[in-house]
Amino acid sequence: MVDDLGLIASEISSCVLCGLCTGRKTTVPGEGALRPPVMFVGEGPGEEEDRTGRPFVGAAGQYLDKWIPAIGLRREECFIANVVKCRPPRNREPHPEEIAACMPYLERQVRVVKPRTICCLGRIAAHALLQTTAGIATLRGKVHRWRDIPLVVTYHPSAVLRDNALRKPVWEDLKLLKTLIPGRPEDPGKA
Ligand code: URA
Repeated sequence: MVDDLGLIASEISSCVLCGLCTGRKTTVPGEGALRPPVMFVGEGPGEEEDRTGRPFVGAAGQYLDKWIPAIGLRREECFIANVVKCRPPRNREPHPEEIAACMPYLERQVRVVKPRTICCLGRIAAHALLQTTAGIATLRGKVHRWRDIPLVVTYHPSAVLRDNALRKPVWEDLKLLKTLIPGRPEDPGKA
């Protein structure tokens, strides 16, 4: 099947596969570059994302925007998506049946985007992609794989905004992620 991001986004925009469709203002399919060094995967849209149709543009997004340059990248050269594409009411966690209904979109997006690496932001994304129920403290700090793609788990930016103690492990995870990204021409001296 020939698939592309526009087709996936258009299917998402009319999706009624779970109850989240009833509360959304707009769908938030994700955005960014093809073949990016990193595809970040969050949980689901919040209020600002639901209003604008763009991922990670609220407080968590502004914080993520500081993480990305820390690994030598610009937001536009990454791809940013979520497990669920519609905002859960009052920003609650998405339910398992909502995640299950939405996952095929994310799987198709990963196949089309072909990222070098995946970075799961938080437990929901890590559990959805790695099919595990292990705690995030167990999952972070190591390299997993989704299909053949190296995948790193770290805390969700919102969690780090609430708890300063998570900053150090996130920094370690970002450093680990950076080791998986090949050097680019504008970074002389890197492999
Ligand atoms: N939190 C997420 O997980 N995703 C967003 O897009 C915004 C906040």
